Amino acid sequence: MRYEKCPLMEKCGGCQLMDLAYEDQLDEKQAFVEDNLSGYGPVAPIVGMDDPTHYRTKVQAVFGREYKGRRIISGIYAYGTHHIVPIHDCLVEDEVADRILGTVRNLMGNFKIDPWDEDRQTGYIRHVLVKRASYTGQVMVVLVCGDWPIPHKDDFINLLRQRNPEIKTILLNMNSAKTSMVLGPDPEKTLMGPGFIEEKLCGLWFRISAKSFFQVNPRQTEVLYDIAMKMARLKPTDTVIDAYCGTGTIGMIAASKGVKEVVGVELNPDAVKDAEANKARNKLANIRFICDDASSRLKQMANEGVTCDVLFLDPPRMGSDERFLASAIKLAPSTIVYISCNVNTLARDLHYLKEFSDYQVLGIQPVDMFPHTTHVETIALLMRNNA
Ligand code: SAH
Repeated sequence: MRYEKCPLMEKCGGCQLMDLAYEDQLDEKQAFVEDNLSGYGPVAPIVGMDDPTHYRTKVQAVFGREYKGRRIISGIYAYGTHHIVPIHDCLVEDEVADRILGTVRNLMGNFKIDPWDEDRQTGYIRHVLVKRASYTGQVMVVLVCGDWPIPHKDDFINLLRQRNPEIKTILLNMNSAKTSMVLGPDPEKTLMGPGFIEEKLCGLWFRISAKSFFQVNPRQTEVLYDIAMKMARLKPTDTVIDAYCGTGTIGMIAASKGVKEVVGVELNPDAVKDAEANKARNKLANIRFICDDASSRLKQMANEGVTCDVLFLDPPRMGSDERFLASAIKLAPSTIVYISCNVNTLARDLHYLKEFSDYQVLGIQPVDMFPHTTHVETIALLMRNNA
């Protein structure tokens, strides 16, 4: 499969591999994973997508005006600048999300709603974040504004919804700070609908909210979680830890397989709130969540003499740390399933486990969650010798 080279490839910088045929992209990622990880264990062939287009269900855009004209544009900042590269239809972004961003641009023009000007601290709409749940089709729109209310607020919201009936909820996030963060720190205000959307993955319901992490490629997320579960070979007697659990996805799927107990550990209180709601929605009694730093909590558990049978960890790009890994070894799980979005930090952490424990890497499975980019997701299965 070969794609027309995206005309914005250099300016945008999001899709570094777009000029390669998809098969060649997969070969490149496979070679990258093997170069970095084959010293630890066998690397299986990468799982790619059948259709690697429009997979990204979380889309965020910065709003501004055309450099010379007055047209409202949305897109991303050119690397290292505050010049907006307009992105009005993108090969990897969800098509409904892109259509909604188009409606926002039109309505801003019609109602004379100025985009936020960070330097002058004038105008209104700064970014728009769109998330879509692929199973239900529900869409969340977050208006990130430097000032509020926008002119013709009610008409704007009604027309946005009318023209895009998939929209289930609209939220307001205030952000007038000079920052590169998209979302401001204060809680969102719900302008329409319930304030969240619902996704179904691996037979379970998950709530998606504005600030909690949720995988952005739902088609491959099911593939990823299925592989993680197969690797774990869960038994009804197992106690399981899901570290860096986000909204509880992996732990909840494990709980639904009928294990004895799952404990999820997550730092972001918004994500833990979603995880609690998900637990209730899925009527699962054998899972609980702890809002804490994973390393501190694992250390505490290890000091208390807690043990577990299976440990899932799915840390952010910076990976885990020595405190976490040293405590994980003390909890003595027979199986560790490490899900990683960064091969370099995964290699570092596998190196630590190789040096300081008797865990062995039995399998490494790359999954392509982000076609056309250099990112690759990897799952490593480790078992304790004589477990
Ligand atoms: N397993 C989840 C989330 C993975 S993303 C899923 O598949 O959806 C990584 C998560 O780690 C994020 O939710 C982030 O908030 C959380 N996190 C980051 N640093 C952490 C820390 N020190 N302790 C616990 N959780 C942390």
